[in-house]
Amino acid sequence: MRLSTFKKGVHPGNYKHFTSLKVIEKLPLPNDVFIPLQQHIGAPNTALVKKGDQVRTGQIIGSTSARVSSPVHATITGIVKDVAPFRHPIGGKAQMIHIRRTGDEDEWDLLPAFTDWQARSAEELNLRIHEAGIVGLGGAAFPTHVKLAPPKDKPIDSFILNGCECEPYLTADHRAMVEMTDKVLTGMSIIMKILGVQQGYIGIENNKLDAIDVMRDAIRRAGLDFIVVPLQTKYPQGAEKMLIQAILRRQVPVGGLPMDVGTVVNNIGTAIAVAEAVTEGKPLVQRIVTVTGDGIREPRNVLARIGTPFKQALEYCGGTNADTAQVFMGGPMMGIAQFDLNVPIIKATSGIICTKQAIRNTVQSGPCIRCGSCVRVCPMFLLPTRLTRLSEKGYWDDAEKSGILNCVECGSCAFICPSHIPLVQWIRVGKLRVNERKRKKAA
Ligand code: SF4
Ligand code: SF4
Repeated sequence: MRLSTFKKGVHPGNYKHFTSLKVIEKLPLPNDVFIPLQQHIGAPNTALVKKGDQVRTGQIIGSTSARVSSPVHATITGIVKDVAPFRHPIGGKAQMIHIRRTGDEDEWDLLPAFTDWQARSAEELNLRIHEAGIVGLGGAAFPTHVKLAPPKDKPIDSFILNGCECEPYLTADHRAMVEMTDKVLTGMSIIMKILGVQQGYIGIENNKLDAIDVMRDAIRRAGLDFIVVPLQTKYPQGAEKMLIQAILRRQVPVGGLPMDVGTVVNNIGTAIAVAEAVTEGKPLVQRIVTVTGDGIREPRNVLARIGTPFKQALEYCGGTNADTAQVFMGGPMMGIAQFDLNVPIIKATSGIICTKQAIRNTVQSGPCIRCGSCVRVCPMFLLPTRLTRLSEKGYWDDAEKSGILNCVECGSCAFICPSHIPLVQWIRVGKLRVNERKRKKAA
């Protein structure tokens, strides 16, 4: 049977065997957590606690009144040691709240549980998602309550749950689908109630056949009519625009969003967070993280408190090998190389990958040999080589006209380039500059 997929893309290898059968384990409570005040796209939060304050697990410790924002919560019970800049896994330093644990158990600050969520209004449920600090856990960290409240002139008719996990190595969503199936389906049902849509799809790549079977079985048992769509294994299938193309055959317009084609996409981890926030009153204080690669002694999937230093998760997994060359946050295609293992697990940390060989090319890049490979694989039909040239030269108007803002930063072009040109890195710089200029013009 020919499976659905999107046009173009790459096959970067799987590497999921390290952890695809590893049951999710609870990471022991950390002694210290470092919680960045901003872990989302949007307005920054202000600290609501100060040095010396006692906090309970789930207590809100940072927020803002801006609509596009998401609060942060204490992820252990303890004392605030500091509110200060600490090293951040995305790069540089950022304002964080350092909490030191005071007991062996959590003292929870829970929201009221909506066990009767079916009887609650869409507004009430979406407010809960906001209060619980839920953002897209696939890595984008866009506030979920904003995504679930599209403008009135953008009617939504379909919801897609993203079970692709197309980045090599990562298996957190895979294990969640197999082990936490009912929570995934509850979260999906709540999201669809908020959006008021009837048609729900779950896209899963065919390198996770057990997840496809388990989800289908659970859907049948629950009497739901969600459709599981098996997809070809290809990168970047999990990018929203690609997934919509693969499942619904709809093309998100240039510069547009999924809501422009009547669709909303959320990931597996986000659906679980929604279910826990609504039915148990639990704010987002933990997430599943895949700790993997040939550079870690005991690769595992762990349920970790947000703010836990990477170092502690790595130690729980037996520590890194002496010849480990690189540690990455996220997958190898879009992830970020780490230089300080004291950085904290944040809401966007889907994985920590340790490898003996450098994942990202560290060799000198050569000249473009005009092979056209980057153009052949770009799923957004862009000309990565041209966008890179325009970024290098600072021709921002031309870069914008050439569609630089449509780049989803999947890294397929850089992956395929035989001359090892850091195409996506240059395009990222270009996008930043073009966006800055647009903001200045608008102001
Ligand atoms: S130009 Fe952007 S969207 Fe196209 S392959 Fe490169 S990173 Fe991906
Ligand atoms: S893949 Fe690299 S060498 Fe080939 S055309 Fe693109 S930039 Fe040039």
